[in-house]
Amino acid sequence: MKKIDAWLFYSEYSYNKKIESGYIDEIVRKAKEEYGINLEVKNIHKFTLISGEENKLLYDGVEVTELPKIAISRRYEIYFFRQLELLGVKVFNNVQSMIDARNKMKTHQMLANSCVKTPKTVYIVPKRTVMNIKYEDVSKLLGKKFVLKWIYGSQGTFVHLVDNENDFNELVLKYQGKVLFQKFIEESFGFDIRAYVLGGEYVGCAVRKSSSGDFRSNLAKGGSALKFDKEDEIKDLAVQAAKAVNLDICGVDILVGKDGYYICEVNAIPGFKSISKVNSINEKDLILNLIRKKLDEK
Ligand code: ADP
Ligand code: MG
Repeated sequence: MKKIDAWLFYSEYSYNKKIESGYIDEIVRKAKEEYGINLEVKNIHKFTLISGEENKLLYDGVEVTELPKIAISRRYEIYFFRQLELLGVKVFNNVQSMIDARNKMKTHQMLANSCVKTPKTVYIVPKRTVMNIKYEDVSKLLGKKFVLKWIYGSQGTFVHLVDNENDFNELVLKYQGKVLFQKFIEESFGFDIRAYVLGGEYVGCAVRKSSSGDFRSNLAKGGSALKFDKEDEIKDLAVQAAKAVNLDICGVDILVGKDGYYICEVNAIPGFKSISKVNSINEKDLILNLIRKKLDEK
């Protein structure tokens, strides 16, 4: 029997849907025939971790005796992926970079530290009981209108444009002070560029444009994807950003300011919708290419 090269995971709901639609059969076939990869797709909820005298893994109640060389982490299941790492499986994205990427302030610091251009960002250490984070203090540093983000947010839902004390106080309270404040890159109102970097290689990008007059361009907020005609200008920047945060699967959000490009944030579990809309790239090939590359690196 050929050894297992890689595991891919879905939640039970997606797994069942993908079995029904033939997606799983298709990706396993494609992996084997086009990439020479022996791929298995798993329902992530069937795993049990045993941590103690001996680290073990059960699948559907049965001990796993053969592990893959590589696992692709497209879910924030830190203990599960850590267990795989402890058992010697190479996980992409690796668990530490997944944890880092979950926190917008931490990733901002990593990006800024590696000299990637980012919007000026402010964080005030919150007190537990008293409201010590003040609109006046932040506006002195960033101007009257700036962006406020919950540091654990995603899909545009927890990002706000603030220009008054009332909204500011309400939001800071709502997020219990776990927020960062950022210079508003006005010229990028309603659009940004989403670039993808896999295994350190730039694979494509799309412009995301808000269709509702919102300053946020996330597809989850109703944005649409368009082709970007100056791709060469952002390739190296995107690769540099992914490297700064050590992500092998990375979606990079890029803002366009009057004085050039700014890295807005990085995503460790990016959807591939925006590039598949404007390019002939699809999710299956992106993932299989990455697995092939990682298998060949060994
Ligand atoms: P999320 O994790 O929710 O996607 P982002 O930091 O990417 O959070 O912000 C969501 C969107 O808001 C971005 O894609 C961009 O369109 C807009 N945005 C975020 N930060 C800024 C900023 N500093 N200036 C201008 N627009 C911004
Ligand atoms: Mg984003």
